[in-house]
Amino acid sequence: MLILLDASALINQPAFTFEESERYACTYEVLEEFRSMETRALVENALKRKLLRVYRPKHKYLNRAKKLVRSKGFTKMSKADISTLALAMQFKEQNKEFLVITDDYSIQNFLAMLAIPFASVMQGKIKNIISFVRFCPVCKKEYAAGSSVKECPDCGVELRTKRIIEKSTKNL
Ligand SMILES: [Zn+2]
Repeated sequence: MLILLDASALINQPAFTFEESERYACTYEVLEEFRSMETRALVENALKRKLLRVYRPKHKYLNRAKKLVRSKGFTKMSKADISTLALAMQFKEQNKEFLVITDDYSIQNFLAMLAIPFASVMQGKIKNIISFVRFCPVCKKEYAAGSSVKECPDCGVELRTKRIIEKSTKNL
């Protein structure tokens, strides 16, 4: 699984570990937020082991993220937060299977709006994974959140989105 980390995922998380079985991503802006010695060492090690890859989201996604944040009246989101949101939008459009790890409620709020799966982290463990599925309100048939189907082919009814909360004790 590809795990997209925001700044809050690692800061104040001394028990965080990068697992060999996962792949991690973050933006350059987030990388710069990892200033404490412990976090730096952790991140540098993950980069060396090629578990973590640093991305620069494309301009169009950055602009889209900025527009979305502004349209909802959020003025306090940092550059790092917006870059994370932009990268999540980019991954979604590229049909990547991924999960965002963030303890930031503003980011979680926007991810929910975009039906992008996310989880928070506590003592190095993923807490609840919030994922999304699209479904037909008539026949209840389900479609992946990222699917381009807009209405149920059987009923011709517009699909709705619902969130699924999955308890997880998974180590990061
Ligand atoms: Zn249907």
